[in-house]
Amino acid sequence: MALQSFFRDSPPLVLEHQYLQQFLDVLSSQGYQLIGPVARDGAVVYDEISSVNDFPAGMTDTQTGGMYRLEDSGSAALFGYTASPQSWKRYLHPPVLQLWQAQRTNGTFQVIPEDIPPRLAFIGVRACELQAISIQDKVFLHSEFVDPHYKARRDNIFIVAVNCGQAGGTCFCASMNSGPKAAAGYDLALTEVVDDELHYYLVEIGSERGADVMSALPHHAAGEGEIEAADAILSKVVATMGRTLDTNGLKELLYRSYESPRWDEVAQRCLACGNCTQVCPTCFCTTVEDVTDLTGSTASRTRKWDSCFTMDFSYIHGGSIRYSAKSRYRQWLTHKLATWIDQFGSSGCVGCGRCITWCPVGIDITKEAQAIREGSSAAK
Ligand code: SF4
Ligand code: SF4
Repeated sequence: MALQSFFRDSPPLVLEHQYLQQFLDVLSSQGYQLIGPVARDGAVVYDEISSVNDFPAGMTDTQTGGMYRLEDSGSAALFGYTASPQSWKRYLHPPVLQLWQAQRTNGTFQVIPEDIPPRLAFIGVRACELQAISIQDKVFLHSEFVDPHYKARRDNIFIVAVNCGQAGGTCFCASMNSGPKAAAGYDLALTEVVDDELHYYLVEIGSERGADVMSALPHHAAGEGEIEAADAILSKVVATMGRTLDTNGLKELLYRSYESPRWDEVAQRCLACGNCTQVCPTCFCTTVEDVTDLTGSTASRTRKWDSCFTMDFSYIHGGSIRYSAKSRYRQWLTHKLATWIDQFGSSGCVGCGRCITWCPVGIDITKEAQAIREGSSAAK
């Protein structure tokens, strides 16, 4: 067996590919609505699924700064893609959420109760996304105030993690200690192995619920060869990850770099479009809108994702306190990589690379942080 096995902590099981539909059926029979990856409109997105045929079999993606392409992989792998433009945030912290609605009846307003969120099983959660969910847990569940809307959704999910079988073009999870292997926070974690005639999943159990599901399925204990094959996949992902972020002393560096000339340079390119915040799996800022209908019979309050890149976001009594693209980019990057640590005890970045891929001008958080580091060294 490989000396540095990724699977040394718990003996994994093997689920043959032919039983994957049964796996989905067991989850459905337990009352879970299945949410998984599907190929749509030239990208892998997350949506309701019911069959193994819904997965993006034989598809992979090419990503670089400002570019995403979905292509044939020539492999039978179902999970051969990397970070989707969407993250699981859209299910736990929806982009648009009605917080309450009230109806006028007999001269008084009655609040219409919110629907109970469905029990969801997330299929295909990557290691970095598990870390992002745990970061949003800190924000919504473990800080001073618990968000009841997030909690109602979070309490009901079953998580099937899938370890990445290849490095994405823009990701850097290895340097953020958030991947490529799922470490915690899952019910089951799969590593997909496709090799000639072989197609199976190495399965790690992360909870009693996960063990219950596996007990309902044909499986066997993984042999040395099967573990070695999965180890080889993960080792290759680590070795081929194209980007790194040097986090050594980064918080202090950013606190010292408020006047770095690099902020002016990036502001020349930044469109302040907010894409980076919308695709980021940890960004959580919102705005709230109150609406009444024209007859005055219904009123509602809706929460929507907002972005620190909008002028309105920092509007305080007569003006925006971050009026320039420079101040908004500086706020975003410094929050992600520095102030987030003081606020929530960890970095706000999990290295998924989405903000790089989906930035229309290809601004790269790893390059910006490195440029600030180099500028700081040169100034000494
Ligand atoms: S800042 Fe960028 S790389 Fe980091 S978690 Fe957000 S989208 Fe992913
Ligand atoms: S860094 Fe890129 S994605 Fe983010 S606001 Fe600027 S242009 Fe848009």
